[in-house]
Amino acid sequence: MFRRRGQRAFRGLGNPNIPPMLQRANQLMASGDYAGAAQAYANLAQGAESRFPQRAPFLFMEAGRAAILSGQNKIGVAHVKHGLTLLASQGRIPRMMALGQRAVDQLKGLNLNAEADEIANLLNANPSTSFSAEPAITKKPILPTHCPSCGGAVRPDEVEWLDDVTAECAYCGSPVRE
Ligand SMILES: [Zn+2]
Repeated sequence: MFRRRGQRAFRGLGNPNIPPMLQRANQLMASGDYAGAAQAYANLAQGAESRFPQRAPFLFMEAGRAAILSGQNKIGVAHVKHGLTLLASQGRIPRMMALGQRAVDQLKGLNLNAEADEIANLLNANPSTSFSAEPAITKKPILPTHCPSCGGAVRPDEVEWLDDVTAECAYCGSPVRE
C-alpha cells in the first residue's frame, strides 16, 4: 500500500485511486444537495457499469436514494430498480434483499407507497426470496459512518466484510475499520 505524495492524508487506510467525482458526490450527499448528488452518483454508476460492475449497484442505489430525497421520485425509483436488477444478475441476492428493503423503508417513510410497492414487487418477484430465510444478524464491530477514503456512507448491513473487523467500502473498495 502506498500513498501518492501531496495527496491529502486520509486516516490510515488511504487508497490512492479514489475518483474525485466520487468524493464530490459523497460531499454533495452529506451536505444535503440531493439533486446534485443524484446526478453525480448516476454519472459514476453509468461509468462503473462496464469498468467496475461490482460497485455499480451501490452507486445506482445511492443515486436513487439521492434522487428520491430531492423529490425526483420517478428517476429515483428507476435507479433503485436498476441497482437491484444488477445485484440480482450478479447473483448477490442477500445484498439485493437488504438494499431493496432499505429502499422500501425509505419510500414508505416518505409516504411514497406506490413507489415502495413497486420496489417490493421487484423483491418478491425474485424466486429465491424468502424473508424467513434471512441470516441471523451476527455481531459486527462498529464501523465509521463514512469511508475515510472517499467519504461515502458506510452501512454495516450493506458492506462486504473482508474479515471480522474490516469491511470494504461499497463505493471505492477501500478497507474500512473502526
Ligand atoms: Zn470509500
